[in-house]
Amino acid sequence: MDSALFISDIHLSKDEGETAGLFFDFLEMRAPSAHSLYILGDLFDAWAGDDDLSDPFNEQVIAALRRLSDSGVALSIMHGNRDFLMGQRFFEAAGAIFIPDPHVIEICGKKTLLTHGDALCIADTEYQSFRKMVRQPSWQSEFLAMPLSRRKEIISGLRAQSEQMKREKEGEIMDVDSAAAESLLKECGCSRMIHGHTHKPGRHELSGAERWVTGDWHPGRAIFLICEAGEISFLDASK
Ligand code: MN
Repeated sequence: MDSALFISDIHLSKDEGETAGLFFDFLEMRAPSAHSLYILGDLFDAWAGDDDLSDPFNEQVIAALRRLSDSGVALSIMHGNRDFLMGQRFFEAAGAIFIPDPHVIEICGKKTLLTHGDALCIADTEYQSFRKMVRQPSWQSEFLAMPLSRRKEIISGLRAQSEQMKREKEGEIMDVDSAAAESLLKECGCSRMIHGHTHKPGRHELSGAERWVTGDWHPGRAIFLICEAGEISFLDASK
């Protein structure tokens, strides 16, 4: 039966071998029987630019994605806030379709809006201004013009800063704003949203709509959504 799988926030990094192992197993054992796989952002914990494709860990991930897409599964990938610098070379190498954020698909009988989710965390004004800056083509071309090693240094500096800010901010500030979610759904004519980013898997009722949240992956919990026979449900790839 045709099924679609949705995952996000794997945060792949060579330092998290167990999580990477869960992901490779998922691509090899679970995903091939699906019709399509949607990765809704933050596949990688960091992406410094497509000139890092030859990093051995990145190569391993790309080869695994490629095997899946070559087997006939439609693989669609969206940028997250960690890996928004993944470019055309990455998508070509992985055999993946780039999907913009937000993106609308028809799935399980409903027009469904896919988004990473970070743009909907509007209470975090500090983050939103950072997001606006780094999504500008001029910022990106300037950044990508720096040597790869320098970019990696900057990224780990930003990472440390954002971990610190996360500790200081209230939980609600870091969550998706319901009103913002509802207005985006309305704008796109959808009654269902699937997103990641918040690392709070669940299903929420909005006025006349529903919001499904995929989870982050770590050893012991690797949540994915499956849409099959008109129903959506949560499964755990680590079990
Ligand atoms: Mn994220």
